[in-house]
Amino acid sequence: MQNPEVVVVGLGAMGALTLWRLAARGVAALGVDRFAPPHDRGSSHGGSRIIRTAYSEGAFYVPLLQEAWTLWDELERASGTRLIHPSGALMIGGPDSDVVRGALESARSHGLAHELFEAGAARARWPQHVLGGNEVALFEPRAGALLPEAAVGAALDAARARGAGVLTGRRVAGIECGDREVMVGLDGGDTLTCRHCVVAAGPWTGALLPELSASLEVERQVVAWLPVDDPAMFGPERFPVFLRQLPDGRYRYGIPSLDGATIKVAVHHEGARTAPDALLREAGPSDLGPVVEFARTALRGVRPEIARSSVCMYTNTPDERFMLGALPGRPGLTVVGGCSGHSFKFSAILGDVAADLAVDGSTRRDVAAFDPARLVGVPR
Ligand SMILES: Cc1cc2nc3c(=O)[nH]c(=O)nc-3n(C[C@H](O)[C@H](O)[C@H](O)COP(=O)(O)OP(=O)(O)OC[C@H]3O[C@@H](n4cnc5c(N)ncnc54)[C@H](O)[C@@H]3O)c2cc1C
Repeated sequence: MQNPEVVVVGLGAMGALTLWRLAARGVAALGVDRFAPPHDRGSSHGGSRIIRTAYSEGAFYVPLLQEAWTLWDELERASGTRLIHPSGALMIGGPDSDVVRGALESARSHGLAHELFEAGAARARWPQHVLGGNEVALFEPRAGALLPEAAVGAALDAARARGAGVLTGRRVAGIECGDREVMVGLDGGDTLTCRHCVVAAGPWTGALLPELSASLEVERQVVAWLPVDDPAMFGPERFPVFLRQLPDGRYRYGIPSLDGATIKVAVHHEGARTAPDALLREAGPSDLGPVVEFARTALRGVRPEIARSSVCMYTNTPDERFMLGALPGRPGLTVVGGCSGHSFKFSAILGDVAADLAVDGSTRRDVAAFDPARLVGVPR
């Protein structure tokens, strides 16, 4: 594409979905990625992501999630590809735990379907979970497992079908914002000139936008798949995605079997800080021990052994809210990212809002909580 109106830098979840939403508006858009998405180098791989609607992280996320579901449905239809396995979700913890109390509050305030189970009733319905007597489980039906590689691939295909360009294997070396145009410099010396640039570089955002680097923390994350005794008990129709808060506040989560043999189990956070290009990609015993221990003590019918594992990265903001919007002193630029380990499910709506901002300079959605200006020059 010779004269793109908008250039999207990075084509993981955020960039691929932004490119699709720009193309859906008829905008001449070009996406650039240093690798060949969908790939396993950044944050948008690993076979599955949790999507839910009741949101313990804050009731203000719910309207965005409701719009995200609609866009995921649209992308499934456009691509003819299954992107979501509905399963419902279980939030497990003490009645006053953040995960249960927060999800309950958001479900009540937005009138979302949900059901709260005492430990005994939860054990009877989901014998795969070991619950202590003082724990509860909040079930919400509007949840499931979202397929990240398929979603990124479908969004890129849908964007191409609407005329967008996709340039892979090219690294953006620098971005210069002028009053009338933005210059996107590629490794090798070429420069793309555009009216607007959306930066969706995931863990590499701080390298491209140094004013954000002090406030963004890239965190290594390991996920694992463990074999189950009876696969029929662990499919999406019998075993909801789950988020469990332990009595000391730490989180574990799991995703039903999508391969008929294993479930995915992982620790949320607790990973080491890393530089994205120095990421240790092999999982070791200290990564996998807590997962095995959780399977041994909190799950029934899951073998405490690792079938396979994968390493990924979170890009954390200090308040774990995303970044979406303009940056002071950078006209013609929108940044979307800072995903803090929970943004995949939102990427369809965040991409749509990024497209609003690139085209109109404003959006009807309430995204004030994600203003990137709050992070400029703020050390973690
Ligand atoms: C283990 C794990 C589990 C998660 N679980 C969930 C979950 O259950 N539910 C949920 O909603 N979210 C979840 N998340 C969060 C979610 O997956 C991520 O936040 C999301 O995928 C981030 O996407 P991104 O596009 O910002 O980053 P990435 O996917 O990393 O994309 C960034 C892209 O930019 C490209 N790039 C970077 N620099 C340049 C450059 N200079 N030039 C060109 N290209 C460049 C990269 O190659 C990459 O393709 C999880 C994340 C991880 C790691």
